Amino acid sequence: MEFESVIGLEVHAQLKTKSKIFCSCSTSFGDEPNLNTCPVCAGMPGVLPVLNKKVVEFAIKMGLAVNCKINLYSIFARKNYFYPDLPKGYQISQYELPIAEHGYLVISTDKGEKKIGITRIHMEEDAGKSIHSSNEGVSFVDLNRTGVPLLEIVSEPDLRTPEEAVAYLKALRAILVYLDICDGNMEEGSFRCDANISVRPKGETKFGTRTEIKNINSFRHVQKALEYEIERQIDLILDGEQVIQETRLYDPQKNITKSMRNKEEADDYRYFPDPDLVPLVLAQEWIEQIKTSLPELPESKFKRFTLDYKLNQEEAVLLTSEKELAEFFEQTVKLGAEPKKVANWMLSELLRVLNERKVNLYQSKFSPEQLFKLLLLIEKGVISGKIGKNIFEHLVFSGVDPEQYVKDKGLVQISDSSELEKIIDDIIAKFPKEVERFRQGEKKLQGFFVGQVMRATKGKANPQLVNKILEEKIN
Ligand code: ADP
Ligand code: MG
Ligand code: ZN
Repeated sequence: MEFESVIGLEVHAQLKTKSKIFCSCSTSFGDEPNLNTCPVCAGMPGVLPVLNKKVVEFAIKMGLAVNCKINLYSIFARKNYFYPDLPKGYQISQYELPIAEHGYLVISTDKGEKKIGITRIHMEEDAGKSIHSSNEGVSFVDLNRTGVPLLEIVSEPDLRTPEEAVAYLKALRAILVYLDICDGNMEEGSFRCDANISVRPKGETKFGTRTEIKNINSFRHVQKALEYEIERQIDLILDGEQVIQETRLYDPQKNITKSMRNKEEADDYRYFPDPDLVPLVLAQEWIEQIKTSLPELPESKFKRFTLDYKLNQEEAVLLTSEKELAEFFEQTVKLGAEPKKVANWMLSELLRVLNERKVNLYQSKFSPEQLFKLLLLIEKGVISGKIGKNIFEHLVFSGVDPEQYVKDKGLVQISDSSELEKIIDDIIAKFPKEVERFRQGEKKLQGFFVGQVMRATKGKANPQLVNKILEEKIN
């Protein structure tokens, strides 16, 4: 029997506002525990939340970017549950009337483009953090994160494979980063996902029972957790057992998912409209104003990169997947560099050295001016492509000016024929047997002679010129 999986994702994206959603405390990450708290986010009695306008603006931006209908009227609801890191005993979220609904996102799969429905986007506050210290035998609570604004973005169960799920997450993350409303940092938990998954026999139209894997914080873990869960569910069904609707946790060390708790139902949360907050009523003009201020998004950048710069699909996907790469590329091209060459250097050399040191482009010292100048030095024949590659890593991490560096290090290519002639004469004198063999017709020895010249000049000889002089001299 063949099975098909059905996946729907709930993503939590932390918004890049300076202050929290209902108070003026800072949202900064990594501060001393409980430094960024006040009576409102610490859940003291008698305080009142005040909505941060920036959060609403960011939610509208995201809603528009993924083709949602923006609701002019939405309400905040209390989601009640007890946890030590939730001092109020409820989380302020949106339930029946969220700010945005009925959108979609286009992903590229190996079978072409596919539209993934977005059910809803709502605003909510994050909870705090419990820190369990096993050696001290106690637990700590840090409320710095309490009240940090989140967007929850819920997809339709339109995804069919772990690969599609990852493609959807990457596309979603790229949009949030392009909009400059979320830093997309998965390690710090600014972008995390709950994955709902069920399986069904191929051809069946009803969905199977789903499980929900909580708080996965890397693309690789999403892929692995889903693969594991698909296999587990299929095995259960083939053994004549049933999948139980429950919440599970992924353990990356063991690469398994484990049952965490029975799935809670909406009833369990006793949702009701928060009486401390008035309904949110938006002016259509504000939405129109935000619409005109939206930046170019990955999908249209991708189209433009293939059309305007003649990049192939793979190059355009890679360069537009990260905003910083796309911007770096275009700035370098604007300075006058050839697009195809810029793409080649960025996708091969640049990504390689960044990956090796596990840093991103902004953490390096590399600038579009540097890449432009480096390409120009090569194009003008001042240095060879080989030397360019040799000095590349140094340029990226030191930020030095390529022209100056090449001069200082004496790397300028030798294009002076009299100087090269002298070197070549010496080599001919040094290898009489090889010269003889070459003259007998062993033409592949040309490479040997070029190699000797390069060795003598530490790679600085202009290769075209070397070949030309060699030919004249030996023949
Ligand atoms: P909850 O808030 O209780 O988790 P929702 O109805 O909001 O429930 O659905 C959460 C997610 O589960 C959505 O992304 C939806 O697409 C997905 N989903 C719903 N049913 C299934 C199913 N049978 N298999 C896989 N995913 C599903
Ligand atoms: Mg859920
Ligand atoms: Zn506060």
